[in-house]
Amino acid sequence: MNDFLTRALVLAKTRGRCFYCGAALNSRLEVAMGKEDWHIDHIVPVSLGGSDGLDNLVASCAECNRSKGNLTAEEFIRRAPHLSIS
Ligand SMILES: [Zn+2]
Repeated sequence: MNDFLTRALVLAKTRGRCFYCGAALNSRLEVAMGKEDWHIDHIVPVSLGGSDGLDNLVASCAECNRSKGNLTAEEFIRRAPHLSIS
């Protein structure tokens, strides 16, 4: 699930921005060069039964990915009201 095509598709879903805070993420060129600093995040964590399908994957900046931890996207957004789905 970490291949280039998957990452490009996931990044395109949020038009190059973090799903949670809307921060601009690295360009596809940077991604292609292996310099990305964003993560593929599971809306429902795999540990809670989430899938590796595209529907369950979003792009997340490093900071949101770190603070989200093992929460579902819904729980994370509820606990961080300054965040909104773009
Ligand atoms: Zn973020």
